[in-house]
Amino acid sequence: MSQPAPNSAEARDVLFHLHSQTNSQAHAERGPLIMDRGEGIHVFDNQGKRYVEAMAGLWCTSLGFSEARLKRAAAEAYDRFGFYHTFNHKTPAATIDLAEKLCSLAPIPNAQAYFATSGSEATETMVKLAWIYHAVHGKPGKRKIISRDRGFHGSTIVAASMCGMPRMHREFGLPLPGFLHTLCPDPYRGTLPREGMDDFVARLAGSLEDMIRQEGADTIAAFIAEPINAGGGVIVPPEGYFAAVEAVLRRHNILVLADEVVCGFGRTGNMWGSQTVGMTPDMMALAKGISSSYFPISAVVLGKPVQDALAEMNKGGEIFGHGFTNSGHPVGVAVALEAIRIYEEMDVVPHVRAMGARLRSGLDAVAGKSRIVGQVRGAGLMFGVELVANPATRAAFDIGLKIGARFDAEALRNGLIIRPMGDTIAICPPLIIDEAGVDEIIELFRRTLSTVEQEVE
Ligand code: PLP
Repeated sequence: MSQPAPNSAEARDVLFHLHSQTNSQAHAERGPLIMDRGEGIHVFDNQGKRYVEAMAGLWCTSLGFSEARLKRAAAEAYDRFGFYHTFNHKTPAATIDLAEKLCSLAPIPNAQAYFATSGSEATETMVKLAWIYHAVHGKPGKRKIISRDRGFHGSTIVAASMCGMPRMHREFGLPLPGFLHTLCPDPYRGTLPREGMDDFVARLAGSLEDMIRQEGADTIAAFIAEPINAGGGVIVPPEGYFAAVEAVLRRHNILVLADEVVCGFGRTGNMWGSQTVGMTPDMMALAKGISSSYFPISAVVLGKPVQDALAEMNKGGEIFGHGFTNSGHPVGVAVALEAIRIYEEMDVVPHVRAMGARLRSGLDAVAGKSRIVGQVRGAGLMFGVELVANPATRAAFDIGLKIGARFDAEALRNGLIIRPMGDTIAICPPLIIDEAGVDEIIELFRRTLSTVEQEVE
């Protein structure tokens, strides 16, 4: 960016605004991309330039950027009251409706829903509930949490500890003690030479079991995983992975927590990512798509055994000492109920499968003509395209070439918003996308790839 005018929005942003997941030095040099408005799957910057938002913001705006029904649902809820809470036996009426709706949709029998406002709060809430569960069952020492390398579960201290990413830990002295990380089930990067998928799955489950035995099963409360790992590079686990891993966990009385923050509400071509990968969780964390991110709301869906443990704990008159001011906020709840109504009316699952198949075949066709695509992977409407120096050997690009960042910059020039994760390009468009939108992404992706490819030759 050329030097911004003093007092311009760009200059004030650099001066006053600390950005999430951003290098402050680079931000000072290049300045912000200031967004102005959205229309369906497109957004417009303050210069009027139009972009296809092929990341649905942060894997979240499943209904696009201008859904009037969500706006109306919020406005109507505000007409009733601007706020009410869920502490001390009180509840907004609509919060009951959303709890019931989530329990009817969730793949957990006899469930209850607990509300919070962010994905991080939801994943942390599951940790507390897991601790209660084991304490009530006479195992207060079962407190450690196992997550996976390259997983992402949020930014608060426990949620960040569960992330399997050095950048979430480095400056903060994390992970906290008792937060362990097992192998990432990445079939492209994680397999040994000549290792078949069955052997890979057996090795992953075996390594988890070794960790449990080493630490002592009586010290481990829960295992948390995204059904399909989003922020770590869109990693689809190999067939049979969760069945094998869950068999180990059940043997050692370790709870299974699904982080459905990205995968929930149709994203992977089923209502829940757990269904796509054969995961059978004791609890699940929901956020993002629950309201298409039009309001900050998240939820934990918890099964009967955890509810029973809570009931047992509260028998003596104690309370569940947990809660956020905005848990079950009536406006967020109204937006979420309307979002779910829209998912149901648009028949989101078959729609995602059809659009996902079209996007996949378009990306595969582009990849087939490229010399730098190692793998196109994903499910539903969630893809990762890994760029490599040599597809035959899977050799990665020299890190200094910053291929992912270059792709990102070129995509922006072309009016396409993707997310580079290292050299893997994530594509996760709003679920309302139609054929024309899919074709636009494919064409802009092709154009961007072709330029990047020529640059590295
Ligand atoms: N879990 C997953 C899988 C996520 O991708 C994210 C955010 O990207 C979170 C949890 C944290 O959600 P939030 O940023 O709302 O705290």
